[in-house]
Amino acid sequence: MASTFTIEIITPERITYSGSAVSVTLPTAAGQITVLPGHIPLVSPLVAGEAIVRNGSDEVYLAVSTGIVQINADSIKILTSSAERAEDIDEARAEQARQRAVQLMAERRDDVDYAALSAKIEKEIARMHVARKRKHHSGPQINQE
Ligand code: ATP
Repeated sequence: MASTFTIEIITPERITYSGSAVSVTLPTAAGQITVLPGHIPLVSPLVAGEAIVRNGSDEVYLAVSTGIVQINADSIKILTSSAERAEDIDEARAEQARQRAVQLMAERRDDVDYAALSAKIEKEIARMHVARKRKHHSGPQINQE
């Protein structure tokens, strides 16, 4: 059995990630799962959260939003409405977008799509979570005092 598989993370705008991996952790509707090569074929909905692609000592952290994952023994394909690598996430932008969505929700207007707003909030929280976690993993802190 192969010890790696290929992974592609595709959004409407771009291919955010394409490469090989020894394991991939994904936020599915049934919870966080870690997939290894040789997995049985599976299709599952994705929810907003963190994806981790591991290849040897290399780990890539990404924020993904709702979508679908297709798993096969030698490949994983993710179609999602948005995906960003941790280092590309603008945390302040995510927080501002979250705040705007929370405020709009609080206005209780009839013309607002609450399911979409709720999904937006989840997406922004996932972005902030991934960006922050990555900061804590980015090597020793320098004490400037
Ligand atoms: P905002 O409400 O912050 O303007 P948006 O709703 O337009 O964002 P999306 O539709 O989720 O954002 O994404 C649009 C594009 O911008 C996508 O390419 C997405 O990856 C990117 N993007 C959105 N938010 C961020 C962020 N906080 N950091 C980095 N890239 C982002």
